[in-house]
Amino acid sequence: MTGPFVIPVIDIVRRAGEMREFEIDAPAPDKWGEGLVSVPAGENIGIDVRLESVHEGILASGSVETAYSGVCGRCLTDIAEGVEVEFQELFAYPGDETSDFEVQDDHVDLETLVRDAIVLSLPFQPVCQPDCPGLDPVTGERLAESTGAQQREALDPRWAALQDFTTDHDDDAPRLGVENTEES
Ligand SMILES: [Zn+2]
Repeated sequence: MTGPFVIPVIDIVRRAGEMREFEIDAPAPDKWGEGLVSVPAGENIGIDVRLESVHEGILASGSVETAYSGVCGRCLTDIAEGVEVEFQELFAYPGDETSDFEVQDDHVDLETLVRDAIVLSLPFQPVCQPDCPGLDPVTGERLAESTGAQQREALDPRWAALQDFTTDHDDDAPRLGVENTEES
């Protein structure tokens, strides 16, 4: 039995009460996730895991951290974020109670377990920032990051009308006049 996330447990198998802790750092063997964001192949997977021997098998609990990348679901900008997930799962002894995971050849393989934990935690609709304004519905261009209000002003026909009105009277005041109107 081989793989980057295979841990030997022969020294605690069938010895309920024994416990071992492991740290693993290994590259993801393939791409994890199929959505707008995913963990690319080769990205480091960091695992802290505690393996406890219990009567039914080996109880694995710990946390896994890595980084995902992809595109914002609103504006398609590239994004990259770290992610950390906790997990706990029983690796049952073969022939005992049915379980999704089994102790095999005195080893446990954490790959499917940590992969599923990470993939389930990936955002289904990722955004580059919580208030991403997305794409302009008219031009298809990405809207400016923090100036959505100004974008709307520029497109607002009232802007042009007010600008004409105020510049007739005082060249220094037009910005103030417009902003007050927008907020009311
Ligand atoms: Zn975005």
